[in-house]
Amino acid sequence: MSAVEHLGVVLEKIAIAERDAKRQAGGVRLVAVSKTFEAAAIRPVIEAGQRVFGENRVQEAQGKWPDMKAEFPDIELHLIGPLQSNKAREAVSLFDVIETIDREKIAAELAKEIARQGRSPRLYVQVNTGSEAQKAGIEPRDAVAFVKRCRETHGLAIEGLMCIPPAEENPGPHFALLAKLAKEAGVDKLSMGMSGDYELAVAFGATSVRVGSAIFGTR
Ligand SMILES: *Cc1c(COP(=O)(O)O)cnc(C)c1O
Repeated sequence: MSAVEHLGVVLEKIAIAERDAKRQAGGVRLVAVSKTFEAAAIRPVIEAGQRVFGENRVQEAQGKWPDMKAEFPDIELHLIGPLQSNKAREAVSLFDVIETIDREKIAAELAKEIARQGRSPRLYVQVNTGSEAQKAGIEPRDAVAFVKRCRETHGLAIEGLMCIPPAEENPGPHFALLAKLAKEAGVDKLSMGMSGDYELAVAFGATSVRVGSAIFGTR
């Protein structure tokens, strides 16, 4: 099956998961994760109507997205990988949504660049729901206070939370934790669910799912 056919299957499964969860049809956004794939592999998916894409490296995205964004101005590009503070300038100028704010220094750099460039990507805080040492994200116990600091100290309009549950665990409790923290923090967007678990994430209230290999194939 082609990426375009896989895209159709994923959209259908999201629609079924929305219905099963008695959620509004079309309420969940599909972020098609195109990391490691070349523009030539991504283009048919754009031509099939998909407009929301995720990349996890600023430099890789800079190499392939500016031309396609110029050609399809309604593309919405999400940064879903760790952001280094020395890449904040490039990230603010290229991405429409930055999902991986997880520390004070990044928040401060983003605030500075948003003011400097007059461009405001939508912003999410990444939460390390499994408290994994090797994984990015703010600790769950610090998440609510961090969202508040992002708003009050840095003037950032955080609109949601994002998580990547531990690979070997049942993701359900992690999705539930993210939903609970979002409620406490007063944000209503939840970016959670990947190729293996996006339907479950929809059941737990995801407002966007990030699906890569189920569309583009194995990396
Ligand atoms: C790669 C990636 C995804 C997509 O993973 P798949 O399992 O290929 O769907 C989702 N979120 C993040 C943060 C990623 O880095």
